[in-house]
Amino acid sequence: MDAHGAIARISLAAVQHNLQQAKQLAPSAKAIAVVKANAYGHGDLTMASALKDTADMFAVARFEEAQKLRAGGIRQPILLLSGFLNAAQLEFAALNNFHVCIHEFAQLDVLEKTPLAAPVTIWVKIDSGMHRIGFSPEQADSVFTRISAIKQVVQPVNAMTHFARADEPEQRSVTEAAITCFQQATAGKVKHTALCNSAGVIAFPEAHGDFIRPGIMLYGITPFGDKQGTDFGLRPAMNFTSSLIAVREHKAGEPVGYAGSWVSPRDTRIGVIAVGYGDGYPRMAPEGTPVLVNGRRVPLAGRVAMDMTTVDLGPEGNEQVGDEVILWGDGLAAEEVARHVGTIAYELVTRLTARPRLEYVD
Ligand SMILES: *Cc1c(COP(=O)(O)O)cnc(C)c1O
Repeated sequence: MDAHGAIARISLAAVQHNLQQAKQLAPSAKAIAVVKANAYGHGDLTMASALKDTADMFAVARFEEAQKLRAGGIRQPILLLSGFLNAAQLEFAALNNFHVCIHEFAQLDVLEKTPLAAPVTIWVKIDSGMHRIGFSPEQADSVFTRISAIKQVVQPVNAMTHFARADEPEQRSVTEAAITCFQQATAGKVKHTALCNSAGVIAFPEAHGDFIRPGIMLYGITPFGDKQGTDFGLRPAMNFTSSLIAVREHKAGEPVGYAGSWVSPRDTRIGVIAVGYGDGYPRMAPEGTPVLVNGRRVPLAGRVAMDMTTVDLGPEGNEQVGDEVILWGDGLAAEEVARHVGTIAYELVTRLTARPRLEYVD
């Protein structure tokens, strides 16, 4: 019996293809491959290594993530999307060719006061409408002026912004306003610009700028809720699988699982899958969420538990213990599963726990 627990099989060729696809969509821009949060659950060092010949830079959200990539032999500049938190991190960043995003006056103070052993490359974050981090367009001038006086900063500086709604086709005007806001705040003042997440790369070619910052699309997933990666020539990288550990005859009127929340309306067969929220399969997945058993779509029945998830195989099914189940991946887009769960595919892949084995193919 070759049944196995949950495995995330990740195609390196797919991720490489997806970066090429992003570069083709933005032929005039360089690419900063976003590998934060363990590369959205795909394994940051392995992903960065697979992309090291095509990515011009990498980006992460946390200082520790950048340190791990450097220690793992990644040589490109690594952009810290939230910058640094203190002088020690800034000193380390300068020495290790981490580019730092500056979005706060507190960071400017540290930058002015901390003697650095090597010049540091800065990306000034402009708040073009997201209103989380970044300097407002009104503050931008004084920030650029202050930074231009700092000797240990590579001059001129770069500027970036982040779109709040580029994934919403009905809200194009919001992103168009963000683009204009950013351009007005930075025109003639910066060396390089970077505006686009994956949605921007795909939907706003006029905003590609000097560098793009694709994240989710590298993993073959689209940022657009009602689409899937293959609609844009992307190849889903992760195949999240497990197998059946039991197949049971089940009588009409009998409940399945905790709380007896699902009761079968007919005599049927129940398949028990070795996957649960202990692997990162979402507990909130409701009945009816599809999975593929030997390529056949069957619905979840009953509650997702820590180690097991049950599906209604139907009276006609001939599935056996040990048969493979695809939770998302080939033939079942993570985007579709996410719609059932009421979340986004970003969260599904990023929330895998440490239990599933990550296996790399090609
Ligand atoms: C995460 C992130 C990205 C990548 O976004 P995707 O939607 O995954 O492409 C780009 N820029 C910033 C600042 C980010 O935080």
